[in-house]
Amino acid sequence: MVITMQAKDIPEAPILDAIKMHATNIGCQFGKIAEALPEVPQKVLRAKLSSMVKRGIISGCVCGCRGDFNIARLNPITNLRQS
Ligand SMILES: [Zn+2]
Repeated sequence: MVITMQAKDIPEAPILDAIKMHATNIGCQFGKIAEALPEVPQKVLRAKLSSMVKRGIISGCVCGCRGDFNIARLNPITNLRQS
């Protein structure tokens, strides 16, 4: 069975958790987020992160470098889910 996973299918809470857990003063490396979501193909994960950067939820680079992702601002919906 082939499952085509799309960026919109990926929950944002585990991504935000991984960034919070692994971010240094520079940011969180892409690899740490990928480790937190091992079932998500990296190409799809980058698309997801790109959409989150565009919406201002996180900051970072999705060009294929290590990314240095950070929480850009608090998301009230996500905070409710995580608390
Ligand atoms: Zn880059």
